[in-house]
Amino acid sequence: MEIESVEAIPLRRDLDERFANAQKWIDSREYCLVRLTADDGTVGWGECWGPIAGNRELIEEYVAPRLRGRDPRDVERIHDDLVFELRSSFHSYVPASVVSGVDIALWDLRGRVLGEPISRLLGGHRRDEVRAYATGHFFPDVDSFDAIRESVVEEARGHVDAGFTALKNKIGLSRHFPYGVEEDVELVRAIREAVGDDVRLMTDANHGYGRAEALRVARELEALDVHFFEEPLPPEDLEGYAMLERRGPVAIAGGESWAFREEFDEVLDRGAASYLQPDLTSAGGITSTKRVVSAADARNLQVLPHVFGSAIALAASLQVLATIPGDPMFEFDRTPNPLREELPSEPIENDGMVVPVPDGPGIGIEIDPDTLDRFRADR
Ligand code: CA
Repeated sequence: MEIESVEAIPLRRDLDERFANAQKWIDSREYCLVRLTADDGTVGWGECWGPIAGNRELIEEYVAPRLRGRDPRDVERIHDDLVFELRSSFHSYVPASVVSGVDIALWDLRGRVLGEPISRLLGGHRRDEVRAYATGHFFPDVDSFDAIRESVVEEARGHVDAGFTALKNKIGLSRHFPYGVEEDVELVRAIREAVGDDVRLMTDANHGYGRAEALRVARELEALDVHFFEEPLPPEDLEGYAMLERRGPVAIAGGESWAFREEFDEVLDRGAASYLQPDLTSAGGITSTKRVVSAADARNLQVLPHVFGSAIALAASLQVLATIPGDPMFEFDRTPNPLREELPSEPIENDGMVVPVPDGPGIGIEIDPDTLDRFRADR
């Protein structure tokens, strides 16, 4: 069996209303998909993290010539070869999102060849459905703190009404608004008061704080029974993460900005986080994520993959989540995103507090060809 074609497929949709986290305003959603086609016609789908630009050119001009003619069933060997070749070509910088998109597509293709969902190839199911938490509560484009608080509280009530028992909100207002950590903590408090004590709450600073601010916030979050405090600090500041883990009263989470087993090993060695959140589309695909899962499990730490992608990323993440030891949760992005809702022939939806693991071959879902065509950014 040989890989016959390697395509980068750019998708984009503008959003009706922009929203922000500590990092940036988000006014469109875009993804670079990877489509591999084997010589027998079997197709594998993958997805790269980040903007189209960069991912698309590297896949078309650099990765495609190296992949054509190779046996797509040699998933891990191709993953490791790509990392090795990209590193030598780009002076030790490995475009992790490119490796990730190709790797997910290889796993999808392999699953379709064997007629099995990826979860069955990774060692089998520990669960058929995964508890989901609703990610959202971004900052709306409004001009008063009261309006922001009202927006996130109303959103939180809606998620609880839809059956969710776990929610994650955004903090780090000072990056875009004239408000500080008091208002950040007030957002979490307002949600806690609105949804009661039985809902699991997490909060995410999108690496918007310095060490002192982060420690102040962590101390306030303890009283609000926050399950974890995500990306309090820039991802490079592993010493700061380790300080918060040692001195802070709240479990620290991070990982969407780290890639490959080696970076996560450094996090583990330093004791820098209690919850590890590799994103399949940026951490090195399914191959690297499963290596991180093994390393974390050996240290008795929970992996909770980060997910903020199209339906391909969601489906692939659910395949991995079916196999992760412990008590993982599925990060279910609830912001408006037609590329998440409309791309699969069957939408990925929560059934109360859980999301079922798709049971078709590969990533478990089919991509609707008409929708794909409609969302393409190159047509
Ligand atoms: Ca995050």
